Amino acid sequence: MAASHKEITAAEVRAAVESAYEKVRGATGGKNADYIPYLASVDPSLFGISVCLLDGTVISAGDARCTFGIESVSKVPTAILAMREYGALGVLEKVGADATGLPFNSIMALLLEKDRPSTPLVNAGAIAACSLVEPVGDAEGKWATIVGNIAELTGAEPQIIPELYASESANDFNNRSIAWLLRSYGRIYDDPDMSLDLYTRQCSLGTTAEQLAVMGATIANDGYNPVTNRQVFDAELAPRITSLITTVGFYERTGDWLYKSGIPAKSGVGGGVLGVMPGMFGIAAFSPPLDEAGNSVKAQLAIREVMHELGLNIFAASRLCICECRPTEERS
Ligand code: GLU
Repeated sequence: MAASHKEITAAEVRAAVESAYEKVRGATGGKNADYIPYLASVDPSLFGISVCLLDGTVISAGDARCTFGIESVSKVPTAILAMREYGALGVLEKVGADATGLPFNSIMALLLEKDRPSTPLVNAGAIAACSLVEPVGDAEGKWATIVGNIAELTGAEPQIIPELYASESANDFNNRSIAWLLRSYGRIYDDPDMSLDLYTRQCSLGTTAEQLAVMGATIANDGYNPVTNRQVFDAELAPRITSLITTVGFYERTGDWLYKSGIPAKSGVGGGVLGVMPGMFGIAAFSPPLDEAGNSVKAQLAIREVMHELGLNIFAASRLCICECRPTEERS
């Protein structure tokens, strides 16, 4: 028997977001990342959720417009950028698409798989992706491309958080080792120090849960940003980036996350999580305290709550869709 189709209204999404916010806001546990000193100083009580539907409706609760460090979520847009410039197969060949099963900043992973950094969504592959960005050899030109790409995906021009950039640059010894190991294996495609600096800069960009939800919606919408009404990247790249997010978005806890949540998502040590429900919506949540694998405790709970409330799971047989009824009443 064919799976039944269920429609979900914007009003139901709003109810799910508000209910998730209320249920999760008092949750405790986890602690801010402290290996980057700036992150330890961020208010741990901040908490926001945002969903962007494919008609451009944005539904948020809590601190969804609060700026925080994008950190590893920045690996997603730069992976898209590398695909835009080199094609999906080019990125597969130059960087790879496999999960490491090891922590995001693992040197061991690189030693074990020296032929490929494995995926642009862990540090080694993300530094390699920054090295690929055009124009090769021109740090400021590359930076403008990286920032411009994020602006197209979110609909907002991101700004560096200077204290975060300084804090991260002063403590990047592990990542520096990764950049130079990549160099010794011939898996970095521009100057290693410059590529590392671009990576550190992109991790230090400020973003908001609402902006990440719009980026998620753009991916869920085959590269078409539903807020700016612009085609940002080729539709054929959307399932590729979602597959990368699916396999490694929660570092070595990705399997547990998918099993529990039913949605591909990418986390960052700044406390942000970006989720993609293809054909339906983008979702993001932010709260600084992290679990031991570096994933935001409340952001995980909040996204799981929304998925649960809506009865959604990407691995379920029924193809669900958001109906476009009452978009004006629901637009926030
Ligand atoms: N800039 C951080 C690092 O390279 C990002 C880590 C993360 O968010 O996973 O360690």
